[in-house]
Amino acid sequence: MQTTAGQGFDEIRDAIRALCAEFPAEYHRKIDEARGYPEEFVEALTKAGWMAALIPEEYGGSGLGLTEASVIMEEINRSGGNSGACHGQMYNMGTLIRHGSEEQKRRYLPKIATGELRLQSMGVTEPTTGTDTTKIKTTAVKKGNDRYVVNGQKVWISRIQHSDLMILLARTTPLDQVRKKSEGMSIFIVDLKDAVGKGLKVNPILNMVNHETNELFFDDLEIPAENLIGEEGQGFKYILTGLNAERTLIAAECIGDGYWFIDKVTAYAKERVVFGRPIGQNQGVQFPIADAFMEVEAANLMRFEACRRYDAHEPCGTQANMAKYLAAKASWEAANACLQFHGGFGFAAEYDVERKFRETRLYQVAPISTNLIYSYVAEHVLGLPRSF
Ligand SMILES: Cc1cc2nc3c(=O)[nH]c(=O)nc-3n(C[C@H](O)[C@H](O)[C@H](O)COP(=O)(O)OP(=O)(O)OC[C@H]3O[C@@H](n4cnc5c(N)ncnc54)[C@H](O)[C@@H]3O)c2cc1C
Repeated sequence: MQTTAGQGFDEIRDAIRALCAEFPAEYHRKIDEARGYPEEFVEALTKAGWMAALIPEEYGGSGLGLTEASVIMEEINRSGGNSGACHGQMYNMGTLIRHGSEEQKRRYLPKIATGELRLQSMGVTEPTTGTDTTKIKTTAVKKGNDRYVVNGQKVWISRIQHSDLMILLARTTPLDQVRKKSEGMSIFIVDLKDAVGKGLKVNPILNMVNHETNELFFDDLEIPAENLIGEEGQGFKYILTGLNAERTLIAAECIGDGYWFIDKVTAYAKERVVFGRPIGQNQGVQFPIADAFMEVEAANLMRFEACRRYDAHEPCGTQANMAKYLAAKASWEAANACLQFHGGFGFAAEYDVERKFRETRLYQVAPISTNLIYSYVAEHVLGLPRSF
């Protein structure tokens, strides 16, 4: 397929495609059926150094930017895999690198680079407050000089069983004692092996996609004070670095999905003959595919602009949100066309369309729902009155 947006990065694309070719569609299908984790695939990515792409060279990584990381994620999804199993390490990395202390970076980054540690989890969402993040009820209270004690609950926290570390957002000053509601929250690195079963309980949530995700219950979990990232009370600002990276990377994954669906449906529409001609000869079939292709291409431009701004340390919240919205919408349109024009075969697991359809659907809701992006753009970009 001739694409126009986001060309380049050939070395990275070729290397990821070659690695992904060792894990063909049947591999991902079997993992999905078993609701398993693609351990061998993530291990291969780690061994080849791709999971350390964002770690600066002085800490053992390759010192690449979010742009390159996004190409890695895109190519995984474009090859029929699902970056959801491992993208956490990429978006959490920015939070640690940009806001962690030198001591924290020396403690964690070299081990993450070698694969000895995984930083795959981020705990923000809570069951009773949802998208209204500043109302989170999980608290971290300082006890003495050396520790914080955490109590509360989180929901939908992914990859806990396949990570060693989690970045946690908790309230350190009660909401009614802060000037602005975005103040008084802090972020911590939680060492999961010291936490699970010792104040942290993890309940897996069976869900529509094969995405390992969990409910977390904190009951007097003790975290060493040295695991606080940055300044106490400023955590919401820091977590936005991770959230913007996450939205941008997921936009790239949706772009990869979008191209996968378009490749798949285009090939099928050329070969499937009904009424004595290929179904792709009918304009009723061609137009939705062409429409979805143009949407993916346009979304890809916004994705690269969000990456560029993030890497240049320019404000990128608007572009990250818009890229995520446009790419998730485009991949969903491509998914619908692909499923529709496979007819009944779209529903057969062996075609992989239904699996990728479910996977890409998630991104209308997580990590931020479409409505909340409309609201962000309306209020923060267009200056319309605040609605909540
Ligand atoms: C598989 C999966 C993995 C996830 N992984 C993680 C993770 O690793 N870490 C983490 O912290 N979170 C994670 N999440 C949580 C995810 O980020 C949230 O589900 C998402 O942000 C939506 O929040 P909510 O589910 O609480 O929906 P709610 O906030 O309850 O919203 C429900 C619906 O109402 C709409 N809505 C709410 N308020 C308004 C309004 N004012 N105007 C218009 N519409 C509104 C929303 O758009 C949404 O469609 C994951 C979720 C899933 C499903």
